[in-house]
Amino acid sequence: MIARVSLEIALRKEFDYLIPPGLAGQIEVGSRVQVPFGPRKIHGCVTALAEESARANLKPILKVIGAQTMVTPKVLQLARWIAEYYCCAPETALKSVLPEAIRKKRGTEEGWKKQLFVRALPPSSEFPKLPKRQQEVWNLIEERREMLLTEVLELAETTAATVRKLEDRGLVEITSEISERDPYAREHILPSQPLLLNPAQQKALEEIKSRMSEIRNRKSETGSPTSDLRLPPSVFLLHGVTGSGKTEIYLQALAHALAQGQGAIVLVPEISLTPQTVERFKARFSSGKLQTLVAVLHSHLSTGERHDEWHKIRQGRARIVIGARSAIFAPVEPLGLVIVDEEHEHTYKQEEAPRYHARDVAIMRGEMEGAVVVLGSATPSLESYYNCKKGKYTLLELPERVDNQKMPHVRVVDMRQAAKEKGPPIFSPQLKEAITQRLERGEQTILFLNRRGYSTALQCPKCGFVANCPNCSLALTYHRIEQNLSCHICGHHEKVPAVCPNPKCKNPAIRFAGTGTKKVEETLAKLFPDARVRRMDADTMKRKDDYRKTLGDFRAGKTDILVGTQMIAKGLHFPNVTLVGIIYADLALHQPDFRAGERTFQLLTQVAGRAGRGDVEGEVFVQAFTPFHPAIQYARRHDFTGFYEQEIEFREQLKYPPLSRVALLTLKGRNEDKVKFSAEHLKRELERALVGEKPLSRPPDTLSPPSGERDGARGTFKNLIIAGPAPAPLLRAEQFYRYQIMLRTRTMSKLSQQLAKIIETLALPDDVTLAVDIDPVNLG
Ligand code: ADP
Ligand code: ZN
Repeated sequence: MIARVSLEIALRKEFDYLIPPGLAGQIEVGSRVQVPFGPRKIHGCVTALAEESARANLKPILKVIGAQTMVTPKVLQLARWIAEYYCCAPETALKSVLPEAIRKKRGTEEGWKKQLFVRALPPSSEFPKLPKRQQEVWNLIEERREMLLTEVLELAETTAATVRKLEDRGLVEITSEISERDPYAREHILPSQPLLLNPAQQKALEEIKSRMSEIRNRKSETGSPTSDLRLPPSVFLLHGVTGSGKTEIYLQALAHALAQGQGAIVLVPEISLTPQTVERFKARFSSGKLQTLVAVLHSHLSTGERHDEWHKIRQGRARIVIGARSAIFAPVEPLGLVIVDEEHEHTYKQEEAPRYHARDVAIMRGEMEGAVVVLGSATPSLESYYNCKKGKYTLLELPERVDNQKMPHVRVVDMRQAAKEKGPPIFSPQLKEAITQRLERGEQTILFLNRRGYSTALQCPKCGFVANCPNCSLALTYHRIEQNLSCHICGHHEKVPAVCPNPKCKNPAIRFAGTGTKKVEETLAKLFPDARVRRMDADTMKRKDDYRKTLGDFRAGKTDILVGTQMIAKGLHFPNVTLVGIIYADLALHQPDFRAGERTFQLLTQVAGRAGRGDVEGEVFVQAFTPFHPAIQYARRHDFTGFYEQEIEFREQLKYPPLSRVALLTLKGRNEDKVKFSAEHLKRELERALVGEKPLSRPPDTLSPPSGERDGARGTFKNLIIAGPAPAPLLRAEQFYRYQIMLRTRTMSKLSQQLAKIIETLALPDDVTLAVDIDPVNLG
């Protein structure tokens, strides 16, 4: 027998090895093995078994690592799909399906357990003043609570002696014992009972449950592998406003999966994976003796914790997995249900290779394993809603809040009126007045400032004019240093106008630079010297505990006004918050991305959902220089379908997703000329291979027509659009220059295959790298 092995080193190939008689019967697809490779011994994963190999003189596998296969054959199949669809090397895909804590494990499970752990101990008295080095090491250990000693040494670049000093001070404990580490064990969780559903919830749950039962019956009738069953894709989109009771539906659907003898995976965005959320699931399924029924996976777990959770799942002790993006690879078997909460969230997309989208992987996994997939959101992505319209997914709607509370009143403030010579103010008189009222009444306020993205558009603060690309209908990126405006899709560029091009305006101070959360905080201090203000952004929230503490203080009423970035936009319930202010809605709206409008709509809707969750009706102020933009107006009216209808028209006209699929190719290097030249070379190669046209037959900087004559060309791709190369919005980052090419097509899988071939033979200079992003969510 032969085993095909994917090696854990960066090679795009798999290798055949002999299964020696001594190991016969012990090796299956998914086994981890040690094999000889040249003079070295390295680890790999068995991806297939075969009777014979095309090659002679095969070397034998040396040994099997671990008793249990580390990847289920089904997850392995998923990894293959990821490699193909997202155009990455098989071993890159494999690495993401197998958590590092499992991969890095040396020797057997027993051997691993004999390694030393370092655990933070609560200081008994006054926390001592530590030398700088020790303090740094302590901070690291405290944050993770428990780590492998080797991990501490590696991450803190320190020696065991330093850790021993902390031990001498009684701050840490070094032990060889692996504790029952439940990251949430300290919280005392009260069990919860299923609620009586309202009619809309009832109807939605029934549909999900009956599809689950139907699939399960078909599986058990035939007893054949799911891939042969040709099951209908069973994806539901649960569209329900915030507070409409989606989570309760998830909980009852999960209970149904358990009752059917199946396991489930719940994906939530990392940011909402708070103890609050996890507690709701644990309270329903793992109170008392069933403590281990729910496993939690997220990026803050220590290696030891991750290891435990993963094994709990693999051994079937945990039946429900809740986690961020990578939890979609959890070895749950048999899998009956996958829930993707806040499915529109962009954090589901991994930004480094493999650049997979966990929602889409979830749908693929559901199809492969015959699991029902439920996508939930108050503001579904255009992609998912479009798929409902096309009949691919089933739409389930929860139009009302469970408690019949009114949606908050959203007021849009026209900031153009307020703009002065010195630039626009941060607070309009209306918002100032509203804050004053809240302070007088002892109610709380959240102020929100979006600073996502580094690129800014050029917008006139007096009339709201935005400089757009004539070809792509997207905001042009304003490059401050070069003093120009450019489109990063088609490459169009122009000079920064001296005065506002709007003939009715001609404002000479067109360059509005925006502001930061710190500035907002300072201005607040001046306007309301007695208010207790806290700021929450990446600068003030360096440690895990900062986040919890700031929110804890806010919840306890120790803060009057919370100022923050998107960190505070979602998932939090604060009954005493009756006012939410969005300082500059335009900052999100005029990002050079075709999803900017969609994002703004989502953001405003989610932020508005923070107001008025208690007894008092909430109020939301949206300050904007383009107050009549549809994204703002539809959000004001809480009208998702209205927004969808007009937005889909825009996407249709310019052939943006979901009316097409996008592949974004980014070239990066230190030498701008080389990067640019390589990008042009790649563009010619793409045209030659995909379109079959002669290179340079058209001016490189124009967007090809979305349809029409190209269909008759020799190439196989209908309606293919190749735009660029163009400088990326963030042209120079950390001394790297970046150029990109954007491809749009109708069906992606065929294009992925072709791209993989083109890339394999593409000759690039050594210091220029290429990144392929299929279905990108960030066009920067
Ligand atoms: P969503 O996930 O859509 O934001 P939740 O599931 O969190 O909504 O529900 C909001 C609140 O309403 C929660 O406190 C939840 O316990 C409560 N709730 C949900 N469904 C019901 C119901 N059928 N009856 C009473 N309360 C409910
Ligand atoms: Zn353009």
